[in-house]
Amino acid sequence: MPIATTNPATGQVLKTYDPMSDEQVDAAIGRADLAFRQLHGTTIAQRAQWLTAAADLLEAERDETARLMTTEMGKTYAAARAEVTKCATACRFYAGHAERMLADEPADAGAVGAKRAFVRYQPIGPVLAVMPWNFPLWQVMRFAAPALMAGNAGLLKHASNVPQVALYLEDLFRRAGFPEGAFTTLLVGSDAVDRILSDPRVRAATLTGSEGAGRSIAKIAGRELKKTVLELGGSDPFVVMPSADLDRAAEVATTARCQNNGQSCIAAKRFIIHSDVFDAFAERFAARMSALTVGDPMDDGTDVGPLATDRGRAEVYGQVQNAVDNGATILCGGELPAGDGWFYPPTVVTDLRPEMRMWSEEVFGPVAGLFRASSYEEAIEIANGTKFGLGSNAWTTDPAEQERFAADLDAGSVFINGMTTSYPDLPFGGVKNSGYGRELSAVGMREFCNTKTVWLGEGAPSAGAGAHAE
Ligand code: NAP
Repeated sequence: MPIATTNPATGQVLKTYDPMSDEQVDAAIGRADLAFRQLHGTTIAQRAQWLTAAADLLEAERDETARLMTTEMGKTYAAARAEVTKCATACRFYAGHAERMLADEPADAGAVGAKRAFVRYQPIGPVLAVMPWNFPLWQVMRFAAPALMAGNAGLLKHASNVPQVALYLEDLFRRAGFPEGAFTTLLVGSDAVDRILSDPRVRAATLTGSEGAGRSIAKIAGRELKKTVLELGGSDPFVVMPSADLDRAAEVATTARCQNNGQSCIAAKRFIIHSDVFDAFAERFAARMSALTVGDPMDDGTDVGPLATDRGRAEVYGQVQNAVDNGATILCGGELPAGDGWFYPPTVVTDLRPEMRMWSEEVFGPVAGLFRASSYEEAIEIANGTKFGLGSNAWTTDPAEQERFAADLDAGSVFINGMTTSYPDLPFGGVKNSGYGRELSAVGMREFCNTKTVWLGEGAPSAGAGAHAE
């Protein structure tokens, strides 16, 4: 498969690249291995200086980098600029907090018969990152910034439709001062992943992508006994209860569904509305969704740009058509527009039933499914009734109900009266088929660390202290 940049707003192929050969990949892994040894010998303060330099470069080059993202995958220019800024903020955050996150943790020495005992977090080596195109800078940065600060080297296999952003990232870390090989972009297709992950020098893998890719990487990693973090798909619920501020809920619902042209893993996708407020919410929501401007993503007046790929648009169209063919009702949108580019309008579909694809599948485009729930219990049953468990949202002003949602929603995060998003200082990840492991925060940084127990005694441990040989 060629590695190509195709502008989704026009369908024009702008640039193509030859994939790297096996020999080139092997040499890059060798450089990553050497860079890891070098990084291991540097201080956190030194790595923080490099990561801060990366933040400075990101801020200085914001507009140019944002344009690259918009022409490669179609997100609006405004959203792309915000993404660059978010990456710079994350670099500064990890540069400033790594010392605390990686500090030795003292243990109760007396309880384990030691003179001194503690836990130390150490890097493990080159980590393979297989990444998606939807947030082409941020998805990579949320792995790379904490991993580099911990002293690991990164090997990036980015999505095949965003090669220019992939190459920019390698160049960024090199210019920021990180040693040659500390962060390397491998321009390869997904068929190269087995060989890379099987290389003994590559110690672990993180994937953000679809369930299928997750299964495939987990299988290889299982065979090779390597750790993985998987950030997979989602079909996040957005529950609205009678006490909610309906205007605000409808406004946030529109953003939550249509940000990034509807292509976000943590986009709200299933809107579960209490029957007491169903009609009032549906009317407000459909009005807001149909008022969004679809068009050229470089235009500041555009709310929703094209979908990233022709295949992705065909998939979304097929899911909506399947619902309509089986009796669902479209409140707005649903029609494929004429003309160039892979545009799809903001769409609201209701009267969904379990046999329809939209009931159980993730819809990766600006399409909202509306579900009616007659009680709290039914809302929870629908919300948790999928194979996914990434983010979740609930709208209620009742404090007791807020507590219940926080406890009952089966997901990696619960946002009450707000929209699911990611922050450098909060863990991010899912349960069930949305994956396992966490990115971001100290929890994410330690995913690719050796959590090493250090026990110091004056002689052999005494049996009375509960010690035993293993
Ligand atoms: P995808 O097809 O799984 O691609 C993601 C990455 O995996 C790409 O680099 C792709 O390479 C690679 N890949 C695909 N199949 C593979 C395989 N069998 N073995 C090894 N690597 C493989 O995902 P997508 O459709 O582009 O992205 C959308 C999906 O990602 C959605 O399900 C979305 O929810 C999920 N996502 C999850 C999160 C999260 O944090 N949980 C965030 C963003 C997106 P090629 O491009 O070369 O095929």
